Amino acid sequence: MAGMLYLVPTPIGNLGDISQRCRETLEQADFIAAEDTRVTLKLLNHLGIKKSLVSYYEHNKAFKGDQIVQRILGGETCALVSDAGSPAISDPGEDLVKQCAQAGIAVCAIPGPCAAITALSISGQATGRFCFEGFLSTAKKSRREHLESLRQETRTMIFYEAPHKLAATLADLAAYFGPERPISLCRELTKLHEEVIRTTLGQALERFTQTAPKGEFVLVVAGTPAAEKETASQDDAAARLAQLLEQGLSKKDAVRQTAKELDLPKNVVYDLAVSLEESE
Ligand code: SAM
Repeated sequence: MAGMLYLVPTPIGNLGDISQRCRETLEQADFIAAEDTRVTLKLLNHLGIKKSLVSYYEHNKAFKGDQIVQRILGGETCALVSDAGSPAISDPGEDLVKQCAQAGIAVCAIPGPCAAITALSISGQATGRFCFEGFLSTAKKSRREHLESLRQETRTMIFYEAPHKLAATLADLAAYFGPERPISLCRELTKLHEEVIRTTLGQALERFTQTAPKGEFVLVVAGTPAAEKETASQDDAAARLAQLLEQGLSKKDAVRQTAKELDLPKNVVYDLAVSLEESE
């Protein structure tokens, strides 16, 4: 009979956050797959657990994944941990879960510490609807495309960032969302120097350009106010309509094409075309 894969979240700072169920799963697993075996060994020593460890990280996951899957198919139970927080969330693990699912192996995720959710909860930003954006790419093109795709995002956005890249990321966020956009910088969560800085992108940029940031950060950025989004999409639609009419398209075709391109209801674009005509 095949074994199982357990995703075991570990503390993001405070060792007291390891749950009884996580401890038992680590004790009972046949082996532990860890992002950095040295980091996990420290945690296991703290918990008084002795267990066989294999490494599973970004640069060996392709071939290590196969080995882990084979061991589980052979009947062993694997507990996957990352350096801190929930495995598979901006951490190695996503691929292993996919591989196990494809091989028909049962996967069990134990709930526990996750920097994104901890930050969102204390951010003071709207929590009803949010999106997790992880790390922005350092490659210019994909970074630009990622930010561009969020320009009209109305949900609260959660980003991870390393301290030495924080100022550059705040500069880009301020450029795309404007300096007045509220942000909560959640720093050193669950640790001695935990802090939440509730401010604006412009002020955060000023602060961390002058003083180098220390510790780990989650950035929780307010979404675009819905009213602003509506105005922006109406402005875009009006501009596109004018362009298409100028190119000689009939009103009907220009409305159809604009609605399709901007993913807007046809009647909204039609009303806009009529009001543009009237204002001419
Ligand atoms: N899988 C982990 C999770 O979801 O909790 C996140 C791993 S990701 C590689 C590391 C990022 O999580 C850091 O760069 C930082 O943005 C955030 N992070 C982790 N621990 C944190 C803490 N104690 N306080 C604030 N941010 C933290």
